Amino acid sequence: MDTQMLIGSKFERGTDTEEAILNPRTGETILNLPEASHAQIEAAVRAAEKAFATWSKTTPAQRSGYLLKIADRIEAEAQEFARLEALNCGKPINAVLNDEIPAIVDCYRFFAGAVRSMPGLVAGEYLPGHTSMIRRDPIGIVASIAPWNYPLMMMAWKLAPAIAGGNTVVFKPSEQTPLTALKLAKILADVLPEGVVNVVLGRGESVGNALINHAKINMISITGDVATGKKVLQAAAKTVKRTHLELGGKAPVIVFDDADLDAVVNGLRAFGYYNAGQDCTAACRIYAGKKIYDKLVADLSSAVSTIRYAKADDTENEIGPLISKRQRDRVASFVERASELRHIDITTGGKPGEGGGFYYQPTVVAGALQEDEIVRREVFGPVVSVTRFSDVDEAVNWANDSDYGLASSVWTRDISRGMSTAARLQYGCTWINTHFMLTNEMPHGGLKQSGYGKDMSVYALEDYTAVRHVMVAHG
Ligand code: NAD
Repeated sequence: MDTQMLIGSKFERGTDTEEAILNPRTGETILNLPEASHAQIEAAVRAAEKAFATWSKTTPAQRSGYLLKIADRIEAEAQEFARLEALNCGKPINAVLNDEIPAIVDCYRFFAGAVRSMPGLVAGEYLPGHTSMIRRDPIGIVASIAPWNYPLMMMAWKLAPAIAGGNTVVFKPSEQTPLTALKLAKILADVLPEGVVNVVLGRGESVGNALINHAKINMISITGDVATGKKVLQAAAKTVKRTHLELGGKAPVIVFDDADLDAVVNGLRAFGYYNAGQDCTAACRIYAGKKIYDKLVADLSSAVSTIRYAKADDTENEIGPLISKRQRDRVASFVERASELRHIDITTGGKPGEGGGFYYQPTVVAGALQEDEIVRREVFGPVVSVTRFSDVDEAVNWANDSDYGLASSVWTRDISRGMSTAARLQYGCTWINTHFMLTNEMPHGGLKQSGYGKDMSVYALEDYTAVRHVMVAHG
């Protein structure tokens, strides 16, 4: 197992406080990893600064070649990456291998192509006697900070557009899930010129805080909690750094009476509980039409009660445990508080899972009202609430009545109703008759307190590059 950080071309163990890396399936410690010292953080930023001088001058074709090599190497070692991610996050191995790794490999390949054909305004004489052209240039050194729910995928979403755009990076994985980042660091050191990507370990309040406040960092890219995003904005204000924020979500799902009930139930069983609900787009806040509500609650509850987890043979598992005891306790406390309300009915689940790991039963909370905490706050666990609505205006108003604005979906057989409802939703993404499906060509990102950074797609490449205007006087 790789345990060393990457600073320039050197592999080093951190020399500061140790963090226990846990197996969420058992609660046991896999190993202890020390975090980066102040001197090591400085060295990583210096290495990124030095590399920027030459990396920023490479051609798109050259950078594309490097990205393709990274993709090939991850693909070649897919089994080992999947094993490590499953170990560190408790994810079912098949979910990592079949869902995540192909999307990660494709992310590097997508940006390898996208950077060679970036769109933009045409050059021309917008003032007589002067030719104007648009450039898109690198921003500089990016501090990239990732969460624990999809460690290797978040690393791909951050690294691929950043380095494709000609930037250099100091990357910090979540202190809870560093293992795949350390393995990828070995590949990055093999493939990339020295210092283009540096990987440092540590907690948010120490290493993360040092990075976001560092005078030489030009851009901060973070996926995490809204509260963390606000700290990033405060730190960034001091030197007016660019920020790329991907924060939480509380996705509303509007189910009209005419929806295909089986498709809805299958969809919610999959997209509400995938990754044990630790997903910022999870289909967790259902608004059901008054005619379909009772049958939806009954069918969904019986479907959710069949979700397989905590099986000894991991290939049978559909979902894993939560990432930590703290997260499991947090989820449990949301459900406990909800269950104390007289109008709420926990129709399946509602308790921590058996055994030593951080499991929580897949749970349906029926009868929830718009003002209930379970409807308003991000739970980030395998818990879905269902609320009855009486007309489309009520459903849309409730869906939009949220601090979050990341993802949403609408389920109906009437495509005009689907389109007109989607147009009224204030979310970065709205799916119609599905949920959760992502593709590297399309952007992922939010509105409101979900942040404004776009991951994937050419819009991410725009976020990680600066638009510049060059004008030539004809003389
Ligand atoms: P978190 O905010 O606690 O941590 C995210 C990262 O930020 C970690 O690497 C952490 O070490 C770092 N960090 C924490 N405090 C910091 C500080 N003061 N300065 C610098 N860095 C700091 O979030 P988490 O618990 O790891 O992840 C779960 C959250 O992430 C959820 O709210 C979820 O919705 C969100 N999320 C959003 C998306 C998205 O695309 N919008 C994707 C995945 C997760």
